[in-house]
Amino acid sequence: MQELIDRYCRFDRTGADGVRYQTITAVALVENGLLHKIPAAIVPFVRTGPLAIVCDAITRAIAADALDALLQQAGFDTVLFELAPSPGEELPNCDDATIDRVAALLATADFGFAIAVGAGTLNDLVKMAAHRRSIPYACVATAPSMNGFTSSIAAILSDGVKTTQPCTPPIAVFADPVILAAAPYRMIASGIGDLYSKPVSNADWRLAHRLLDQPHSSIVMEIVEAGSALLDGVAERLPARDLDAVAKLAGALMLSGLAMQAAGNSGPASGGEHLISHYIDMTSVAFGESHDFHGCQVAVGTIVTSRLYEYLAAQDPASFDIEARVAALPSWEEKSAAIDRDFGPLAPAVREHARKIHPTPEALRARLTRLRDNWDSIIADVSTTLRPSSELEAELISAQCPTRFPEIGVARERARRAVVLSRDIRARFTILHLAADLGLLEPFADLEMARAFG
Ligand SMILES: [Zn+2]
Repeated sequence: MQELIDRYCRFDRTGADGVRYQTITAVALVENGLLHKIPAAIVPFVRTGPLAIVCDAITRAIAADALDALLQQAGFDTVLFELAPSPGEELPNCDDATIDRVAALLATADFGFAIAVGAGTLNDLVKMAAHRRSIPYACVATAPSMNGFTSSIAAILSDGVKTTQPCTPPIAVFADPVILAAAPYRMIASGIGDLYSKPVSNADWRLAHRLLDQPHSSIVMEIVEAGSALLDGVAERLPARDLDAVAKLAGALMLSGLAMQAAGNSGPASGGEHLISHYIDMTSVAFGESHDFHGCQVAVGTIVTSRLYEYLAAQDPASFDIEARVAALPSWEEKSAAIDRDFGPLAPAVREHARKIHPTPEALRARLTRLRDNWDSIIADVSTTLRPSSELEAELISAQCPTRFPEIGVARERARRAVVLSRDIRARFTILHLAADLGLLEPFADLEMARAFG
């Protein structure tokens, strides 16, 4: 497996499309008991100046103190920062204010390198803060909870909206399956949940390519498929914290992040299912509602959008009344007023994203006509990556990963809003957008709510 990961580190290949696909992450190591190897492994990348280690109270005890001692023994001048949560929070959040705080910490000395010790939040905080300070950084993973370790984007709550922002990826990532397997189980379930979005996120990526001529890459797909091939038989072995299964999960997470890095965006690993999760995160912060780990929410979104693909495929394209759909398209002013009503205090930030993807009548007519006229070919194309929702759900359940809204603490009304409104929060075309274009999203949401809540 390590050889496979190495193949896509410092990767550089130009596709038939003339686009150069690159990764700059040099090391993505998955190995039992690897902490003692880190000092030597980072030497080629460390600039002069002290080395900053950023952790929170939990990851400090898991690995940061031990790593600090190893680095000092190896002669590094280190400063360890234990990040306190913002007032009213239990753990640090990856938002604008906390990134400013971490960037300020990294400005307290002439640091030549930074190391994040943690999972999604700490990695993204240090990734963005190190990017702003132009300092190379590495991550030591403490839980296999999401695929962002090796990516070149950070998930940031910005002005209340969950965004993914481009930034320099880590030069090295270290994942010790012994440490990862001891993480709270929900974080392990979250990691497999994040990866199980692949069939639908890739279908959305293809859909945007077929209907809107957005770029799609077979080179990136090669990396995505390499990661997902590692997952055969892994889900059911995770609840026992099987070390080999956790190692493969970690390897697949590394490859998924490298695929995003090569693509230059989260397109290969984030479609409508992620929008549903992001909507839950945003409303959680804005309105004090509950939320779950990223990948657990993504797993629920994955089952929803995978069933939406099945719902769409069962339609008769001859029944699409394209002119009626074009006539029903709200003007931007009407759409904007709807966003005010639907998102309340989050509306100004949401509007900026929604505006970029709000179609003109001509664009809507063009893509619906293209869909109707190429129906069989487009359905066949997206189906190459899709899997039956029942199969995905059974495997997620075997991993003890949630698959339905009530299991992640999202009540009926909020769940329905997540399905019908989340497409407004990002300017990336997904199955949620297409279903809304066709007037199918609301009836589908009603069916889904009946399934999830009875
Ligand atoms: Zn994700």
